[in-house]
Formats: sequence, C-alpha cells, structure tokens
Amino acid sequence: MLFSDVTFASLALVALLGLCLGSFLNVVITRLPVMLMQQWRTEARAALELSDDIEEPLSLARPRSRCPRCLTPIAWHDNLPLLGWLKRRGRCASCQGRISIQYPLVELASALLAVCFCILHGPTWPALWLYGASLTLLALAVIDLRTQLLPDALTLPLLWCGLLYQLLFSPASLDDAVIGATAGYAVLWAIGKAFHVLTGRDGMGLGDVKLIAALGAWLGWQLLPLVILIAALLGAISGLLIQWRSRHLKGQPLPFGPSLVLAGGLGLLTGNELLTGYQALSGLT
Ligand SMILES: [Zn+2]
Repeated sequence: MLFSDVTFASLALVALLGLCLGSFLNVVITRLPVMLMQQWRTEARAALELSDDIEEPLSLARPRSRCPRCLTPIAWHDNLPLLGWLKRRGRCASCQGRISIQYPLVELASALLAVCFCILHGPTWPALWLYGASLTLLALAVIDLRTQLLPDALTLPLLWCGLLYQLLFSPASLDDAVIGATAGYAVLWAIGKAFHVLTGRDGMGLGDVKLIAALGAWLGWQLLPLVILIAALLGAISGLLIQWRSRHLKGQPLPFGPSLVLAGGLGLLTGNELLTGYQALSGLT
C-alpha cells in the first residue's frame, strides 16, 4: 500500500497507540528479568528444601508503576507515555531521583516502528504481526543491554510466531523460514561450541543462538547470513567505540543481542530488498 493511502490523522493515531504500547514494553523490559530471577530463586529454594522466601511477588500487572529508587507509586499524569518523563524532566516527583532515559526512548522507538510498518504495509494484519515482532526485538535488545539476558519467554514465542506468520501470510516462504530457523540455530550453536572447546570461554550465549533461530524464521535462510554479518560489523564497531570512549566498560563482554536486533530489525523493515541491495552492491547478480 502506498503512503497516500494512509492519512496523516490515522498515522497520528498509530503513533499514539505505539507510544502506549511502548509504555507497556517498558514494564516488560523492567519486570521480566526480575520475575525470572524470583522464579529461579523459588525453584532453587524448593530444590534445596529451604523454607519459602518472603519476596513480594512481581507480575506485569502488579504492583502499580513506581519509582525504582524510593518505590513511591507514580501518579497517572506523571506516567503518561513520553509526556510524563518530559514533564518531570526525567526525575521522580517524590525523591527527585533520575528516571532512566530508557523509558521515553523505548516509547518513541515503539511509536516510530508502528508508523514505519503502517506506511510500508498499510493497516493490514501482516503489518501488525511485523510490528509485534519488532517490539519483541526491541524488548530483547534493552533487556540484554541491562541484564545480559535474552529470556526464552521472548525468544521462543518470537520463533514460533515467525513460522506462523509465514504459514498465514506467505506460505510459499515457509520452507525458507523452517530452514532459516533450524540452520541458524545449528550453525551458530556449533560455532559457539567450537569456540568454547578451543578457547575455554563462552563466545556466544545460547540466548543469542535462539534469537538467530527466531530471525531465521522471520527472514528466511537467504537473508540470515547477511543479517549475521551486519550484526557482527555493528558488534565490532560498538566494541571499538567502547574501548575508545568508556574506560569502566573496557574488557567487559559486550552483549551481542542488541547488534543482532538492529540487523534483524533492518531485515524486518526492508525484507528481501536488503538482500537484493547487497547483491547489487557486491556484484553478485
Ligand atoms: Zn523516587
């Protein structure tokens, strides 16, 4: 569908919905790793036959949004997507502690992605599925940056939904998607194992391998090597930048998830045009 088919008013509505979904995505990004840690601690205590812990159980719905520092609940008008953060200039109304810039940035990115997919595919079901995939990727990138985790609770549904997307909207590409997911997982798992045997260190986490399998399902096997190449380049560039600019992060392992997400997101937005563009540039066609 062309840009002219989508009116400015409908795009503004889509952006607004994107901001609200971005606000919910921030809740997922902040709480999911803590919920997983709670679950692992509970399982470990049960396995060791220790008494129940007395942690306040956390879910995506409860408790209400609150300041991470003083735990004061945030009033609804301070919790409005983007506006709440701008109104308080990134500070808590109660303790004046800094509220991370992650919150408005994720909300903005979510709104931008919603607008992009709406312009590219119109108000269609495939656009909604692709937007959902891009939000999951966004959550994975920020969680990986914050905690060095890529939770199965996000990577595995992303993989299954990728295969389902092909089945529903592009059945002719289902073979490519199944091969992409399987080969992506197998090859990267083998490379990771070989690296571990040769160096005794973990080069790539299993979360990265599952994320690559999910990208294989969404993009097909043909696009996957290029996406991994772009991610490796992005990883190398960000590694060099960190070496150069940030003394306290020097020598720390760099999460690969955000680079994979950026390259995979580019693949979702451009589709096969990324591959044809690369082939034209490198003289492969
Ligand atoms: Zn506070």
